[in-house]
Amino acid sequence: MGVRDEAAAIAGEIAELRHEIHREPEIGLDLPKTQAKVLAALDGLPLEISTGRGLSSVTAVLRGGLPGPVVLLRGDMDALPVTEETGLPYASAVPGAMHACGHDTHTAMLAGAARVLSARRAGLPGTVIFMFQPGEEGYAGARHMIGEGVLDAAGSRPVAAYGLHVTSQRLPCGVFSTRPGAMLAAADQITVTVRGRGGHASMPYRAADPIPVACEMVTALQVLVTRKFDVFDPVVITVGSFHAGTADNVIPDEARFLATARSFSQESRGALAELVPRLIGDIARAHGLTAEAEYSREYPVTVNDVSEAAFASETIAAVFGPERAELAEFPITGAEDFSFVLEQVPGAFVMLGACPPGTDPQTAPTNHSAVAVFDDAVLADGTALYAELALRRLALR
Ligand SMILES: [Zn+2]
Ligand SMILES: [Zn+2]
Repeated sequence: MGVRDEAAAIAGEIAELRHEIHREPEIGLDLPKTQAKVLAALDGLPLEISTGRGLSSVTAVLRGGLPGPVVLLRGDMDALPVTEETGLPYASAVPGAMHACGHDTHTAMLAGAARVLSARRAGLPGTVIFMFQPGEEGYAGARHMIGEGVLDAAGSRPVAAYGLHVTSQRLPCGVFSTRPGAMLAAADQITVTVRGRGGHASMPYRAADPIPVACEMVTALQVLVTRKFDVFDPVVITVGSFHAGTADNVIPDEARFLATARSFSQESRGALAELVPRLIGDIARAHGLTAEAEYSREYPVTVNDVSEAAFASETIAAVFGPERAELAEFPITGAEDFSFVLEQVPGAFVMLGACPPGTDPQTAPTNHSAVAVFDDAVLADGTALYAELALRRLALR
């Protein structure tokens, strides 16, 4: 029986685990219930298991019967602060928490791959690290796990690392997508406080109004994007939070806004970190106000190694047929903390279309939506891909 058939044979159990995790979503770095479900699913397998100290991660090491290199497979485990509105039978039972990014499927598929590979342990030429990671959604869980030694869990560094991510839209169900080089953007946070002087709204000349100045900054940031950056090395700045004032007739003392900055190269990221605070400061000064702009580097660019991306793509084509292996023309403007792993280990991040069959991927709700649906149909093949990537990469040496 091939790996695909072996994964298909346990598809029911993988879906059951996925549903259990989906019903009880947990957010952030501390996911004790999810961790317990993973540990139960791995129970009895020939794995060396350790759990995180500062976060509820699970690291499982499978040592094959034959000598060989180390490969790392990663699945993230955390949910989002979203109240689910899908109406699915296994929908979240926790108000304000939902697996709206499909990480429940990654966790279940990775546990499935651990089972499939454990059954082949005797003939496995090397070692596989299974990285079950909390806190992908803004908590840098991958960086914490690296700090706690996940990359050295097998005794020697992995030669390759692979991550899988479902998407509820764009890709047809069952189609895998990857590309060499930049796969996802770097995501940084800009925090701006504009300090003026409050007063009566009818006499703005007696005050120093921070609101029009902050508004000017918002539009100037968009001009900065078009005038200071190469159109072929794009950046995105979006102000997603803007707050000032309490009443129509009061000029407030300050205005605050938050923005996300996305980029795909070290050069652009470095330029953002330098130019954004300067622009904010200069606009404030032009109006006789002051401003603080804090540029915080969050997730780096997720960079797929050229040969590992080609290997992943060839593996997908060989296992599932070339029609299911998309070579993505462009990177994704989303971000991933798997980027921290790929900074240290060559590897590839692969997207998997998971919108329900019969749904138009172009109009289906996006990941993070309260109505995003990831279909169980992809669980067996996602499991098979994790396992095949490890098996074939170990065989390569
Ligand atoms: Zn997400
Ligand atoms: Zn995600």
